[in-house]
Amino acid sequence: MPDRLISFRFFPTFGKIFVTFLTKPYDLKNITLMMYWILFIAIALISYWVQANLKRKFDKYSHIALTNGMTGKEVAEKMLRDNGIYDVRVTSTPGMLTDHYNPANKTVNLSEGVYNTCSVAAAAVAAHECGHAVQHARAYAPLQMRSALVPVVQFSSSIVQWVLLAGMFLINTFPQLMLIGICLFAMTTLFSFITLPVEIDASRRALVWLKGAGITNAYNQTQAFDALKSAAYTYVVAALGSLATLIYYVSIFTNRR
Ligand SMILES: [Zn+2]
Repeated sequence: MPDRLISFRFFPTFGKIFVTFLTKPYDLKNITLMMYWILFIAIALISYWVQANLKRKFDKYSHIALTNGMTGKEVAEKMLRDNGIYDVRVTSTPGMLTDHYNPANKTVNLSEGVYNTCSVAAAAVAAHECGHAVQHARAYAPLQMRSALVPVVQFSSSIVQWVLLAGMFLINTFPQLMLIGICLFAMTTLFSFITLPVEIDASRRALVWLKGAGITNAYNQTQAFDALKSAAYTYVVAALGSLATLIYYVSIFTNRR
């Protein structure tokens, strides 16, 4: 499940763009920058809608019980067993939509609302997180790539905003700094794109198993699919938002005077 929303890192420059657009509205460069601004606002609006849609869907499917009475914890434990995985623990973690699989200590962490609840949403989330545990056990390549990128992305996220901000100030005297910032940002964009196959594959594994193991009936299966599809959209929008931001920084760099 998404642990954070898209972080837009371009707000400090918006005021500057707006002022230059007002003073020179017909300058092609200013029009291009305004187009980016419109694109970012559109992505922010879509992102907001996708998040709201996810919350709405999960709220709806949290109120539809499974006929077998299984909680998220029981669903997770059964999926792990059915996949021959015996060294992964299922634990409860505080918060809402905080569910995740931790490959470091091999735990499927389910939020309280999923762990103790018998619902279509709880089963879908529990099975999705176990999908990541199955990926880990089977050495699924995109997951391995994603895990390898985690320390790189943690490092670059901690400094990228400052490097880009300083890079923009010094763009004409020391353009290499902006280039370093762009490379750091590109790592986070790459990470958000590698996340896509990992998330979609985990949901695919979850849905196949839910149906095969008879956890869901035909009616619940459609609902579980709908819930996981809504979650996948958040990752797609995050990746596109990150790509648009990267292109924006590249265009600032290439258009420098
Ligand atoms: Zn996931």
